Amino acid sequence: MAEITLNNLVKKYGDGFPAINDVSLDIKDGEFMIFVGPSGSGKSTLLRMVVGLEDITSGDLHIGGKRVNDLSPKDRNLSMVFQNYALYPHLTVFENIAFPLRLAKGKHPESEIKEKVNNASALLELDEHLQRKPSNLSGGQRQRVAMGRAIVRDADAFLFDEPLSNLDAKLRGQMRTEIARMQRRLGTTTIYVTHDQTEALTLGDRVSVLKKGVLQQVASPRELYDQP
Ligand code: ADP
Ligand code: ADP
Repeated sequence: MAEITLNNLVKKYGDGFPAINDVSLDIKDGEFMIFVGPSGSGKSTLLRMVVGLEDITSGDLHIGGKRVNDLSPKDRNLSMVFQNYALYPHLTVFENIAFPLRLAKGKHPESEIKEKVNNASALLELDEHLQRKPSNLSGGQRQRVAMGRAIVRDADAFLFDEPLSNLDAKLRGQMRTEIARMQRRLGTTTIYVTHDQTEALTLGDRVSVLKKGVLQQVASPRELYDQP
């Protein structure tokens, strides 16, 4: 778990208008922070800067008190869940979830891998599907596998990039509840990006509203909901 601090972050692509324009924000240890805004407001850019997939033009980014501007993604110890799941089609559910552990430096013993995968799959109700391949799963189950892969290792924070946008409305509602419950159980600092108002108002501890790269407001869901 870790605190994430953004200090005057700026991102410019080429010499255009900044995609992220002087954003400062303190995300507390264990907090569930939502970033909401219309398409093009800079949500993905911000998330990609935090995870290290995008260079920071100026400003400072600290994770767990450490400046990480120049650290590669693999040295930041964060887990990211993408919109399109990015599962490995040739691997079973078990192996998809186990993948980050097999990749980690300092090999995990097989018994430990089994235990961690079983814990993650129990939390996500995937126990019965561990030997199946992604192509034999529903959209909701695939999304759970992607989350299993994110939570299986002890990351300092989870980053979610519109993880529910490919699901139908009913499943989205169900997964919202599950994600909120999972985050509370694990207590891991989480950044969750969405353009969906319902997700913004129901999932997190606080909501950051982005517009054209500028942080407009940071408030609790309650405060946003009560606004005229
Ligand atoms: P959102 O995730 O809120 O839809 P993005 O972060 O994808 O917003 O985009 C923010 C702005 O930055 C947009 O104007 C977008 O066109 C621009 N942008 C995003 N990625 C790139 C890129 N790789 N090169 C140039 N411009 C980009
Ligand atoms: P989203 O809005 O869901 O974040 P987009 O469709 O805006 O996704 O962007 C998808 C990909 O295209 C991202 O990797 C983003 O960085 C890139 N991208 C977005 N806008 C531009 C742009 N104007 N020029 C180049 N790449 C872009």
